[in-house]
Amino acid sequence: MIDQNEGFSNLDNLYKEVIMEHYRQPSNKGTMENPDAVSEGYNPLCGDRVKIMVRINEQGQVSETRFSGEGCSICMASASMLTDEIEERELGEVLKSIEQFRSVMKGESDVALLDGDLESFGGVRKFPIRIKCVLLPWTTLNDAIKEYRKKTPG
Ligand code: ZN
Repeated sequence: MIDQNEGFSNLDNLYKEVIMEHYRQPSNKGTMENPDAVSEGYNPLCGDRVKIMVRINEQGQVSETRFSGEGCSICMASASMLTDEIEERELGEVLKSIEQFRSVMKGESDVALLDGDLESFGGVRKFPIRIKCVLLPWTTLNDAIKEYRKKTPG
């Protein structure tokens, strides 16, 4: 794990608190039997590892999500917020949210597009090394959904 303070210590205190809150008490951390979509991601720059598991209902909506793994506070908090964010959402919408979040984190879209707890990652954009920590759960979910769609036509 890279220095927790790289970037993190420069974040606004309120945002830091939101991130630490998710890190200490993550939403949907755990495991799932026979998930419909699953993928594992690794960020060699920091050592973050995350596995995202998703249950998808007949309407093509996310009905349950779990994540497991080990990583820095930013990565784990991001996974927690992601799983909150996609609850009961349709897969196409989820893919759009992932794309939008990615483009904001990469500085291609306005930071004002982030809402709720996700706002706390706006300040991380200044620290390229931490952007990968934030994005890992999102790109991992993206892989899981793409894989699911490949084996589930229609
Ligand atoms: Zn990290």
